[in-house]
Amino acid sequence: MRIAVITETDPHEDRVAATPETVKKLVGLGANVAVQSGAGLASGITDADYQAAGATTEPTAEAALADADVVLKVRRPTPAEAGAMKRGAIVLAIMDPYGNEAALKALADAGVSAFAMELMPRITRAQVMDVLSSQANLAGYRAVIDGAAEYGRALPMMMTAAGTVPAARIFVMGVGVAGLQAIATARRLGAVVTATDVRPATKEQVESLGAKFLAVEDEEFLQAQTAGGYAKEMSKEYQAKQAALVASHIAKQDIVITTALIPGRPAPKLVSEDMIASMKPGSVLVDLAVERGGNVALARPGEIVVTPNGVKIVGHLNVPGRLAATASSLYAKNLFNFLETMIDKGSKALAVKWDDELVQATNLTRDGAVVHPNFQPKPA
Ligand code: NAD
Repeated sequence: MRIAVITETDPHEDRVAATPETVKKLVGLGANVAVQSGAGLASGITDADYQAAGATTEPTAEAALADADVVLKVRRPTPAEAGAMKRGAIVLAIMDPYGNEAALKALADAGVSAFAMELMPRITRAQVMDVLSSQANLAGYRAVIDGAAEYGRALPMMMTAAGTVPAARIFVMGVGVAGLQAIATARRLGAVVTATDVRPATKEQVESLGAKFLAVEDEEFLQAQTAGGYAKEMSKEYQAKQAALVASHIAKQDIVITTALIPGRPAPKLVSEDMIASMKPGSVLVDLAVERGGNVALARPGEIVVTPNGVKIVGHLNVPGRLAATASSLYAKNLFNFLETMIDKGSKALAVKWDDELVQATNLTRDGAVVHPNFQPKPA
């Protein structure tokens, strides 16, 4: 069994899909691992590190991919990358399948079996393979660091001989994995933290982290969580009540971190232009949802926008990738844990259990076709 790891070609991607730690484990399972030269550099991993773990390094992506049975990637392979793969090869990556049906067809046409790691069910057995959680946790941490760096004041209260510095006020909107880590990080840095979400279960979680919960707690709020644990898209009426509550609160905040997402839908708009205009000069908004349409009006992907009233709106792309070494280490382990379930320990050969619920939930393409029920070509 040959496993290939290639350099990510997206200019905003510094992560890599395997680390010396996971290479060593794969070699232990009987695999030959081929890593494209330089693939780990942006995550602080040299070719020598990979070689010491038992991998060979190859000069090009084509050389690494040649004859590989498994390809580990961070982002969905480009059509050219998929074209260089063996038909029947297994590819694990964050595939970003929603709205990208043409790209899925290209993977199917290349004959590879593509697996979307972000479709992994949020069940206990799959927690160790949950890339959404491992990466969102880091994004939540980094959002606070980025917000603090753009904020021209200190976060904790400081009583000094030269005077007292008040604690910064940080408001976290959306309390999933990223939001919870943002709250914990902001608290560690000494800020006074409030948070909001539409799922009632988050109230206790927010309070257990020492932050204050703020939400419109009506009948709709009590029903806002799906069986899968995600948020529903809220009614126009609820959104109006939520906006009214948030409007008066936001005007008093120094840093606002937004993380709200709804699976398969554009991100909900939570912060309006009027709310931004009510904020103090020097305050900062960090929009973690900017790549999915954004929670904050005026946020622009990949930019820091400064408004006429001096508010900064931070829209960094690929926030987990801003902590590439840590993000790669956790992501690579998620991939290893999934791939391990596809390898027969006795024969040391690939043995995908196609009827396994984790395989069925994540498998997008197989034998030249798009097989996932959510991404079937629409009838003409
Ligand atoms: P997510 O990234 O889909 O969304 C982030 C947060 O935004 C969510 O908390 C959501 O409720 C919130 N949100 C959506 N619309 C909003 C609005 N209009 N206003 C305010 N907030 C809004 O969420 P996630 O981080 O992927 O977590 C989703 C769920 O999955 C949570 O319940 C989490 O605890 C659960 N989870 C379970 C496991 C597991 O293995 N069992 C692992 C990870 C996460």
